[in-house]
Amino acid sequence: MKIATTSGELRAHNRVRLLRAVHDCGAARTRSQLTRDLGLARGTASVLVAGLAEDELLHEEPASEHARGRPTLVPGPHPRGPLALAADVREDAWELAACELGGRVTVLEVRPHDGTPEGALAPLGEAVAAHRRRLGHRVVGVGMALPGPVRHGGVVAITHLGWRSVNVPALLGLHPHARGTAPQGGSKPPGLPIVGNDTAFAALAEARRGRLRGIRVGLHLHVDFDLGGVLVVDGHPLGGAGETGAEFGHMPLGGGDRPCDCGAIGCWGMNVGANALLRHVGLAYGGGRGREQAEHVLATNEEAVAAAAGALGRGIAALVNAHDPEVVTLSGLGAELWERAGQALLAAGEPYLMAIRRDRPPRVEASALGWRGALLGAMESVFDAFLTTEGLELWRKNHPDQARDTPDQQNVMHSTFEGENPI
Ligand SMILES: [Zn+2]
Repeated sequence: MKIATTSGELRAHNRVRLLRAVHDCGAARTRSQLTRDLGLARGTASVLVAGLAEDELLHEEPASEHARGRPTLVPGPHPRGPLALAADVREDAWELAACELGGRVTVLEVRPHDGTPEGALAPLGEAVAAHRRRLGHRVVGVGMALPGPVRHGGVVAITHLGWRSVNVPALLGLHPHARGTAPQGGSKPPGLPIVGNDTAFAALAEARRGRLRGIRVGLHLHVDFDLGGVLVVDGHPLGGAGETGAEFGHMPLGGGDRPCDCGAIGCWGMNVGANALLRHVGLAYGGGRGREQAEHVLATNEEAVAAAAGALGRGIAALVNAHDPEVVTLSGLGAELWERAGQALLAAGEPYLMAIRRDRPPRVEASALGWRGALLGAMESVFDAFLTTEGLELWRKNHPDQARDTPDQQNVMHSTFEGENPI
């Protein structure tokens, strides 16, 4: 990072730090707490907050509970402030949301699709374009999670859907700009689509707002129709040289030699997830279909659950032997499997742990974010690009007073994840 030398640069740097702190704490800390956290003088913090409020980046509300005396103020998102559009594209449906600074999510649309690249992505591109028009300059970027490895340029392979080299930005009709996994932030201009892998995004969200927060080495596994996994070091999912990490599901940890759609044999992901549950009971599987039936199997079939939990436990043990994580987190169907058969999972894994690991095995925990991790990680990638001196400068330039407008609120189809303000 460039060192701030002039007072103007220092102020720009502190604006970013303050907004970042508000975002990361979920807009839950008071101005005086943030002032202390950031080592700012009270007067400096007042000037910064006033400037950010004037730029419609922050808005202060009195804390809901405060002691006697002057009300305590909590800086949070401005009602006309920046929004990240985030989408979670799954094999059978997509969800599009608007996210405020601080992480509050308003789901805008959820739509099933036919599993083809055009069927999934063209309507999503139209929805994004429509919401961008409606929300105007407030949209500072678009992040998208997809259930497959993403190479530079947003080229995605989802082999079990028959997607070989699908150019996501082109099919969306949006400007081509993409990353394989979650970006480290600060290096790209804001406002352009960022495409990433769902597991990497879920892991990023877990590191920012979930059970991997503050953890030095964590392992995150995201299970849906099959399984993805990634190592998270100091809050960063390890993307690999070509940004196509997050593929522990394609390691031969399942104990079989069945050919996988990815081209390898014996992949772990064939033994864990909705497809494996369906296959276990003899139902048709594949092509991103059968989510509801798989949920039914998970709820009712002990044998299928035991098989999946066993395969998950053995694979986790192998990865724990290799990476020595402090915590293993499970999202998506993995969290439901943990809920349903956590003890069986641990018991199945134990014999596969090295003795030195068995003494103090890592904690295994369900994600704190439920099914929302991939969407929240897509949001984080947008705010990572926005919360930079360049991003904030661009906001000021794109923010003429006369364009200020309150967006209409008629397209909200679902209640908000945290909070009630419609977008
Ligand atoms: Zn595979």
